[in-house]
Amino acid sequence: MEDCIFCKIIEGKIKSDIIFSDNDMIIFRDIHPQAKIHLLAVPKAHFPLIEEVAEDALIGRMLKTIASNKELLGLKHGYRIVINQKGEFGNDAGQEVMHLHIHILAGQKL
Ligand code: AMP
Repeated sequence: MEDCIFCKIIEGKIKSDIIFSDNDMIIFRDIHPQAKIHLLAVPKAHFPLIEEVAEDALIGRMLKTIASNKELLGLKHGYRIVINQKGEFGNDAGQEVMHLHIHILAGQKL
């Protein structure tokens, strides 16, 4: 999608610190980390919200891939996963980027 910052990162038009990539997604470091380790797992397909995902199995596969790559991602002491979602009538969770992404927080007591 043209005006989407995460699509631009996926297409290599904006630089980012990419740690992992497969057919489904990329994982890169958040530019404003909220923990010692703060990663974003972002599907390569553009969709803003969970209910818009075209393939039901995708999010489950992403979570399993994160869990299978704990060593590479620095998650061996545990981690927290957060998905912020904008609502129909407001944005209580504060989702800023309207391309679905999974926050992965780790590297310290949370
Ligand atoms: P959310 O509030 O859930 O939409 O989270 C969006 C996240 O994307 C925030 O934590 C931002 O710090 C992060 N972010 C925005 N632009 C970039 C970028 N160019 N590279 C890495 N992380 C970014």
